[in-house]
Amino acid sequence: MGTVKEAKLEQLEMKREAYQLIINGQRMDSSSGETFTTYNPATGEPVATIAKASKEDAEKAVEAARHAFDKGKWKLFPLNKRARTLNKIASIMRSRFNELVELEILDTGKSLSAAQGQVMQAIEDFEFYAGAIVGHRGAVNNVPGQFQNITEKEPVGVCAQIIPWNYPLMMAAWKVAPAIAVGCSVVVKPATLTPLTAIVLGEICIEAGVPEGVVNVIPGAGSEVGNYLVEHPNVDKVAFTGSTPIGKDIMAKASQTLKRVTLELGGKSPSLVFNDADIDAAVDGSLFGIFYNTGQSCEARSRLYVHEDIYESFMEKFVEKAKKLSLGNPFAKETHIGAIINKGQLDVIDGYVQSAKEEGATIALGGKVANVEGYENGFWYEPTIITGVNHDMKVVKEEIFGPVVVVMPFSDEKEAIRLANDSEYGLGSAIWTTDYARATRVSKQIQAGIVMVNCPFSAFPGTPFGGYKQSGFGRELCIETLDLYTETKSIVSYFGNRPLNPFGV
Ligand code: NAD
Repeated sequence: MGTVKEAKLEQLEMKREAYQLIINGQRMDSSSGETFTTYNPATGEPVATIAKASKEDAEKAVEAARHAFDKGKWKLFPLNKRARTLNKIASIMRSRFNELVELEILDTGKSLSAAQGQVMQAIEDFEFYAGAIVGHRGAVNNVPGQFQNITEKEPVGVCAQIIPWNYPLMMAAWKVAPAIAVGCSVVVKPATLTPLTAIVLGEICIEAGVPEGVVNVIPGAGSEVGNYLVEHPNVDKVAFTGSTPIGKDIMAKASQTLKRVTLELGGKSPSLVFNDADIDAAVDGSLFGIFYNTGQSCEARSRLYVHEDIYESFMEKFVEKAKKLSLGNPFAKETHIGAIINKGQLDVIDGYVQSAKEEGATIALGGKVANVEGYENGFWYEPTIITGVNHDMKVVKEEIFGPVVVVMPFSDEKEAIRLANDSEYGLGSAIWTTDYARATRVSKQIQAGIVMVNCPFSAFPGTPFGGYKQSGFGRELCIETLDLYTETKSIVSYFGNRPLNPFGV
């Protein structure tokens, strides 16, 4: 078996031809017998056939999860036993690292280095929550003498976890790990474009000893299966990562049964480069900030604001370095930029770029569908830098979800903050400055869940990830996430010498 580094697209060894649903600890076909095919965005070729979950399958999965939660022993396991199981999941994932990387590349068209980093982070997420759960606990609260009040953290119940296509395994790990760590049961609904690694994760959970029904994986259409889960009275919580319009729909529907909801939604994240910044570091970090994962990242720094004093020198370097980014074989370690997920998204990206041209913007680099030798049937877009923009333009206001960045100059700190906050989104943000006081001052004024100071990375296991404003609410990847999968129970007790008689009758 070759390593992924050596693998070529035509030399695949670890992928299976067909994948099934996972319900109640069993692999199974869908009740309708229907299947669907996923396609490799880099080549347009089919990858695998997958059982297509229907409402009947969603019902079975919810029943299995409900039964596991209400009657099963997972939530009653001592914490250290659940922690050990999470570590076992991580260790099996490590032993299947190359397979997971390969599947992620085939399903998404992302580059090897991106896939490797994300699979590794997914593994580390399970390790993080294996540790975090041991310290997660309630409290003893201050109450008048002779009373006692303790709070306990109890698992919220059955959780529907709806996953997007851009980080299929990592997003599944962000959700499954904390939920099962606290004792919940989950029904995972991966995106139909990219279901493979979530299915394998479900299989790994079972192999690691997670009892039947605790982790169910049902790839199917969002409008059918996703919606069914959101409306289901036996689902207690919905954790959703995806676009803002679908997030709003989910929130409205989940309100009918008052489900707990966490929403990780879209973004249009700003990056501010001040005139005292280390320009080279800012250039490199800004390249990564937008072009990592082919710009298909919720926290992609897609709005770049550069102080007017350094605008020209910054742009010269930024454009020159962007020209050096290579597109091509996603399995090659020298490839920086992978494919776009599908033709529909490619058209959306190009539509935004065309709209910018029509509105009078300047295309400083790229701006068209890329022709990548050997990958003519795949979906590729040139790294694109747009200047001459203003805040009325669609490319500045809306999430493009592709390798497209808009750049504007600013004249002072106040203006930079105003521009950064002039968005309905509030997920990521970046500040490039060597002035510590400025970094602190600006960080506090930015309306975003994440501020990266002189840093291109937004998340490690343990760092809270989530948005302000229309980027959603709730935080993943951190200790606080455990609270979002638990209810707090307050137990008030009386230990006085005499019985209480509050009415005095
Ligand atoms: P999407 O909203 O189209 O789909 C996300 C998931 O929701 C998929 O599994 C889909 O099948 C399902 N779905 C669709 N309609 C549904 C419905 N009516 N009811 C229930 N489920 C439904 O998003 P996408 O195109 O897969 O992903 C891209 C979006 O995700 C971008 O907006 C991106 O910013 C966002 N995203 C956010 C984060 C974050 O942490 N904030 C992370 C990754 C992606």
